[in-house]
Amino acid sequence: MTPSAGSGMTSDTTRARLIDRLRAQGIQNEHVLEAMASVPRHAFVDEALSSRAYENSALPIGRGQTISQPYIVALMTEAACAAGHLNKVLEIGTGSGYQAAVLAHVAQKVFTTERIGELCRLAKQRFHRAGLHNIWARHQDGLGGWPAQAPFDAIVVTAGGALPEVLFDQLAEGGVLVAPEQVNDHQELVCITRSGGQWQRRVLGEVSFVPLLEGVA
Ligand code: SAH
Repeated sequence: MTPSAGSGMTSDTTRARLIDRLRAQGIQNEHVLEAMASVPRHAFVDEALSSRAYENSALPIGRGQTISQPYIVALMTEAACAAGHLNKVLEIGTGSGYQAAVLAHVAQKVFTTERIGELCRLAKQRFHRAGLHNIWARHQDGLGGWPAQAPFDAIVVTAGGALPEVLFDQLAEGGVLVAPEQVNDHQELVCITRSGGQWQRRVLGEVSFVPLLEGVA
């Protein structure tokens, strides 16, 4: 990460504090903690909010969408890493691009889709400025996944709803799907592993993501 990405002394210190907090909250994977330390979250939010970038809270990113809480980003990244070596990862819901940037530090290649054109354009600019050249972002409805690049070692969905069946077909053997699943009146963050024709489902906790919607905007 270059200094031009906005990492000053103050943000370095606050970022270090964030890592301490993530550790205290139970994030153990050192690669994930390093990735969280490397990505300047303030570069992924509006300048007016950058002083709040290292709070452990979700923040608005425009068009009614939010950048996820750092703990949730770390937790989802840690769950994705359980698949082992991550060659290709797919994210549905680019939003600010922050989660994709974190994933880009633990995976060879990250493919990410966003249904809102303006958010996709801004995220691409941020990836470029941050010198992240292993992320491919597309303005498209992610409900169909990204068949041309499948199979993926991990698929991370960052908007809540019913789990799109087609994504299961795009998971590699041993791959992991991490997603906020709508269950009755709440969302559960689930981690589903494909192993030998079987599916293992683990619930990581209750979460509150913006909805997974159909079509592009
Ligand atoms: N991962 C993001 C969080 C974004 S919030 C970050 O790190 O900032 C979820 C995003 O999912 C929103 O931007 C929303 O527009 C997008 N989204 C919702 N449904 C979608 C769909 N079907 N395909 C692609 N993106 C979708």
